Amino acid sequence: MKTVELPAFAEVVLPISLDRPFSYAIPSPLRERIRMGMRAVVPIQNRIETGYVVGLTHNSSVDSVKTLIDLPDSDPVFSGEIMELCRWLADYYCCSWGEALHSAIPAGIAVRTRRVYRLSMESLTSGRFTDKQRAVVAELNRRGPLTESQLAKAVGAETLSNTLKSLVTRGIVLAEAVAATPAVNALTETWVRLCEESALSSEDLVRLQRRAPKQAAAYLDLLHGPSERRASALCLKHETSLATLRQLAAKGLVTMYEHDVYRSPEASSGHGSTQKHSLNSEQRKAYEAIVAELESNRFQTFLLQGITGSGKTEVYLQAIERALSLGKGAIILVPEISLTPQTVGRFKARYQTDVAVLHSGLGSGERYDEWRRAQRGEVRIVVGARSAVFAPLPNLGIVVVDEEHDNSYKQNESPRYHARDVAIMRAKMNNAVCLLGSATPSIESYRNSEAGKSVRLELKRRATAAELPRVEIVDMRVETRDVGVGIMLSRRLEEEIDARLKSGDQVLLLLNRRGFSPFVLCPSCGWVAQCTDCNVSLTYHAQGAHLNCHYCGYRRESPPVCDECGFKPLLYLGTGTQKVEDYLVRSFPDARIERMDADTTSGKGAHAQILGRLASGDIDILVGTQMIAKGHDYPGVTLVGVVNADTGLSFPDFRASETTFQLLTQVAGRAGRGDKPGLVIVQSYRPNHYAVKAAAQHDYTAFYEREMAVRESALYPPFRRMASVMIEGEDPQETYRTAVRIGKTARGQIESLEFHGIEMIGPAPATLRRLKRKYRWSLGLLSKSTKRLNILTRAIRDAFESSPEKAGCAVKIDLDPYGMM
Ligand code: ADP
Ligand code: ZN
Ligand code: ZN
Repeated sequence: MKTVELPAFAEVVLPISLDRPFSYAIPSPLRERIRMGMRAVVPIQNRIETGYVVGLTHNSSVDSVKTLIDLPDSDPVFSGEIMELCRWLADYYCCSWGEALHSAIPAGIAVRTRRVYRLSMESLTSGRFTDKQRAVVAELNRRGPLTESQLAKAVGAETLSNTLKSLVTRGIVLAEAVAATPAVNALTETWVRLCEESALSSEDLVRLQRRAPKQAAAYLDLLHGPSERRASALCLKHETSLATLRQLAAKGLVTMYEHDVYRSPEASSGHGSTQKHSLNSEQRKAYEAIVAELESNRFQTFLLQGITGSGKTEVYLQAIERALSLGKGAIILVPEISLTPQTVGRFKARYQTDVAVLHSGLGSGERYDEWRRAQRGEVRIVVGARSAVFAPLPNLGIVVVDEEHDNSYKQNESPRYHARDVAIMRAKMNNAVCLLGSATPSIESYRNSEAGKSVRLELKRRATAAELPRVEIVDMRVETRDVGVGIMLSRRLEEEIDARLKSGDQVLLLLNRRGFSPFVLCPSCGWVAQCTDCNVSLTYHAQGAHLNCHYCGYRRESPPVCDECGFKPLLYLGTGTQKVEDYLVRSFPDARIERMDADTTSGKGAHAQILGRLASGDIDILVGTQMIAKGHDYPGVTLVGVVNADTGLSFPDFRASETTFQLLTQVAGRAGRGDKPGLVIVQSYRPNHYAVKAAAQHDYTAFYEREMAVRESALYPPFRRMASVMIEGEDPQETYRTAVRIGKTARGQIESLEFHGIEMIGPAPATLRRLKRKYRWSLGLLSKSTKRLNILTRAIRDAFESSPEKAGCAVKIDLDPYGMM
């Protein structure tokens, strides 16, 4: 018989910027267990890191390989599919495979330190050992580094501590603190099972009853009742301890084993409607198109463009139901779970217990449990935010990306992936369906549907009797002329708020800026309160009268007089949500007014509580940032006011118009979802801007066409692909020099024939020239060729990473960047 040869070397990738696998010798005791996709604890330089096994071989091309230290898990954490997906992600977003894999597993798999013992070179020469010392040395020699508890199992715990201490003192054994990754801290409980094959004879039973009545009682219970029980329950019943069961186990009468228990995340938030609707004709058409692809196991991306309230969610729900009946799994991505408790509630309610929820609000243990349930095929549906796109569901049939235009799908730290694009790739690798849903599709997704890369399905009518709300634009320039400078609410908006308060309806007011006022200015000398670490003005917050930096969190007391010249009073310019709330409280003293923004929702469950009060009618006016615009369905809301539609338009970002259009459309969609018609009042100083006008007319196509013309004239995405390279450092001179050097590298590469056709902008000071004490320079790269851009950014990255002097600088590369550069 031929024995299978075990692998002797492992290729391991690490969550570091170097994108290559490292070779390690596998100690023989681990050779039988090691598998692809497992985590591995390995030495690298003079550290210990946890990496991922991406290859197994019988021989190594490297001369002096180090030895792998440990395999913390009994099973692989990644399937081949996720490893392949992450390899693609690393190539596309310019990071290492190890970094990509690292972002694909829940943070709950934490790194802990533990002490291990290993032999030093001395051990070969030194002579006299006690028996115990000899046993320890032999064991370490045979098995490599071990913890004290591993040694205790092998040689006995007795006098082990002292033995180790003396061996360490003599320099024979080395003790090291290792950043080892514990076997994932799954929660287990002990169960006990009767061993059918070793029953007691009646004589032995009588003897046992006499000598150990509790053991006998437990034994008889298992023999006559259910033969498998939770140990704690059995002990409780017979008023005894686990030791009793262990004695039965020692006699071979029962076996004890650990059974996983799952921590259950908070129950669904209740107020989602669960009733299954029969689809209307538009929904049915969409459903049938999706299901046809599902049934024939074909990869296809769909863009479900449905106005707010058109019943997109019902289409998701039924398509997923079909996927389940075909034995396939489903992933539903939602932008930010805390803002969309209703959506999650609807999924949970419809499918009962079969839904795992993954999001950052869960404790790490909970998150890991949910992940594991998916991996073992115990749930077929995973709902979650961005990182749920990596959920380890086997046999994936459909990935839904709800509100696909939402910017929170883009991760703004390395790896800077966009979950929607990863979702499409994942569906492709699985011959699955990717379903993107939005009332206001991203320009990229809509263009893909125009270009035939995806199939567009449209829902043009609301699913219920409710009509889309009427939208009025108030020209704030006229208001200023007639009423005065600095007016917050127009006469029209105030009048309508008043009317709703009288009729008992609810009002939402949007202002996408938190705090009281964004500028504090000295009218005498012109001093502006600024952050010491960032190049931005501080925002005045009325609660506790302090100044706050919205970029780094820096906070100081609000000065009563000018820092520079001592003048008072200072001016508090501009308007944030607190100022609006303050104004409302004074103007409408009888109304119940609340505010929802990052400042009022920092506590756990705070969003849900505010939304709960809105749902139960305990709030008359809710003022808030873009948080109030997300997918809520509150029938009592009949008026939505937008305090300033222009806040986002002036951002130095080529997506500023798109973001504004989406926000206005989304918030408008919150009005009039019940029986009464809705009204939206949009205040703007730029009422003729196409983003504002198109949103007021509920006209996506008009917006799309104008926006595409603007993008085309500048050859911005989607006409070319963009990459941004950010150079950051604390020293202004060094950062500047590094930026210039990187600019030269890039220019050199571009001018070599291969990269012809890449446009380079900069290096130039970034929009935020200084952030969190770091000076920032940015370099923009634009190209029609994705491939060339990828090769170029990788070359820039490698050149920087391998350069000997980094001068305290860091380089961040972002493909398809969002936000200001
Ligand atoms: P969207 O996700 O497109 O904004 P929703 O899925 O939230 O829309 O649907 C809006 C409302 O219409 C919900 O209250 C939902 O229960 C209801 N609804 C959806 N489909 C139907 C249908 N076919 N018949 C009646 N009501 C429906
Ligand atoms: Zn001053
Ligand atoms: Zn700051």
